[in-house]
Amino acid sequence: DHLANKIAAGEVVERPASVVKELVENSIDANSTWVEIELQEAGLQRIRITDNGDGMDPDDAIRSFHRHATSKIQDENDLFHVRTLGFRGEALASIAAVSRLTLQTSLGTVAGAKIELEGGKITKEDKSDARKGTDITVDELFFNTPARLKYMKTIHTELGHITDVLNRMALANPEMKFICRHNDKELFRTNGRGDVLQVIAKIYGMNVARNMIPIEAATKDFKIKGYVAKPEVYRASRSYISTIINGRYIRNIPLNKAIQQGYHTLLPIGKSPIVILKVEMDPILVDVNVHPAKLEVRFSKEKELYELIESTIRETFRKQTL
Ligand code: ADP
Ligand code: MG
Repeated sequence: DHLANKIAAGEVVERPASVVKELVENSIDANSTWVEIELQEAGLQRIRITDNGDGMDPDDAIRSFHRHATSKIQDENDLFHVRTLGFRGEALASIAAVSRLTLQTSLGTVAGAKIELEGGKITKEDKSDARKGTDITVDELFFNTPARLKYMKTIHTELGHITDVLNRMALANPEMKFICRHNDKELFRTNGRGDVLQVIAKIYGMNVARNMIPIEAATKDFKIKGYVAKPEVYRASRSYISTIINGRYIRNIPLNKAIQQGYHTLLPIGKSPIVILKVEMDPILVDVNVHPAKLEVRFSKEKELYELIESTIRETFRKQTL
C-alpha cells in the first residue's frame, strides 16, 4: 500500500502548491473560519497549515491517512452531488507518502491526537492539546522521491504557484481569514469579513479594486455573480481570471474563452482581463471527478452556461459605454 500511495502521490502532489491547495481545502471543508499557512523555502522545506475547524478524534486522525478514507461521501451516488472540496480521500495519504508529516488535531473538548509519519509510515503517536482544530506540518516534501524533487523549479517559481493557489482560494472564500507567511515574513492576509472587493484589493491592489464592476445574472440552471475589471485595467501575459464553481476554484478553458469573448474587442489581443466569477448550479450539472487534483471539471448544459457568461459581460460593457 505504501507503493500505491507513492504512485497516487504523483497524481495529487505535483509540487508544494498542490499540498497547500489540498490542505487548505480540507480546512475549508472542516468549517474553519481562519487558516494560517506557514512556508519555508516555498514549501519545499516546510508547509504548515493551522486551522480552527472541526478537528478529528484520534481514531479518525489515524484513518485520515488511509487511502480512500474520506468522511465526505458515503456512496457512489454522492459522487454526483459533491458539495465539499474533497471527496476522493487521497490527499493526506498521498502527501504523507512523500514527506515527513506531523498531524495534530482535536475536537476541542478533550485531548486530541498527535501523529508523526515518515514516507507514509506512522513513526510516533501521542496526545495533543485540546485546541479545537487541526495543524499539519509537512517537512522535506519529496525527500524520498528524488526524481520528483529534481523537477522543482526555483523558490521564486514555486512560491508563485503557491501564491496563485492561495489568491484564488481567498477569492473563493472571502468569509474565511487567510494568513500566509514565507520564511517568517508575512506575504498575505485577508480579514475574513466576506467582502470580495477587499480580497481583490489585497491581491491586485486598490486601483484594480476600484475599477471592478459587479455582475450578476441567472437562468433556470445557473446563477453567476462576480466582478469584472474595466478593460483599461487588464493584465499582460498570464490569466487573471478566477472561476469558482459551487465554491470550488476550477480551470476550464472554454469558460475562460467565454469571458474573453464577453470583452469582445475591448481588450488588446493577448491581454487577460481581471475577472472573479462565481457560478452556482445543481452539483449534478458539474462533474468534478475528471482529474485527481479536481481542478478540471465538465459541465452538462455547457453551451447555456458559456452563453450566459459571455452575454452578461458583453451587456455590462455595452451599458458602460452608453
Ligand atoms: P478528502 O478531503 O478527499 O476526504 P483527504 O485525504 O484530503 O480526503 O482527507 C481525509 C479525511 O481527513 C477527510 O475526509 C477529513 O475527514 C479528514 N481531514 C483532513 N483534513 C482535515 C482538517 N483540516 N480538519 C478536519 N478533518 C480533516
Ligand atoms: Mg481533501
